Amino acid sequence: MDKTFALIKPDAYPRREAIIEDIKKCGFTILKQSEPKPTKEQFEEFYAEHKERHFFNDLVAFMQSGPIVAMVLQKENAVPDWRKTIGPTNSLKAKEEAPESLRAKYGTDGQANACHGSANDDDAKREIEFCRVRYLDP
Ligand code: ATP
Repeated sequence: MDKTFALIKPDAYPRREAIIEDIKKCGFTILKQSEPKPTKEQFEEFYAEHKERHFFNDLVAFMQSGPIVAMVLQKENAVPDWRKTIGPTNSLKAKEEAPESLRAKYGTDGQANACHGSANDDDAKREIEFCRVRYLDP
């Protein structure tokens, strides 16, 4: 069955138990779950595709601002379904357009948006592998 990679970001960590309940209610099986502490360099590698974007340094600093939860989620159509479950990137837009989405419920704005989800199957494979090697598996 399909898998995707999810993060609960630092802004939403205090509400992680509610988010995890929502994830299960939406039909995802949590295959793996950990609370890694990636270094600045590991986050820079994880978000390498954004390194030319104006928000890159802020994003890396934000991701290091507190604890996170990393998960491998399984479900039919896991990648698109998880993207739909979390909603639009900007939580302010999510609150307007997808009020039931996790970014609407638990996020704040364009940066502090509660959750990450792999963009496509190739990214899901890369991110699961990256985190398996770096910190997801013992
Ligand atoms: P993610 O990759 O976290 O699932 P996404 O694919 O919806 O999010 P991207 O465009 O890949 O969005 O941006 C990655 C992350 O960078 C966003 O989730 C958000 O935390 C941050 N971000 C995106 N745009 C901005 C911005 N304009 N200002 C600040 N932070 C931003």
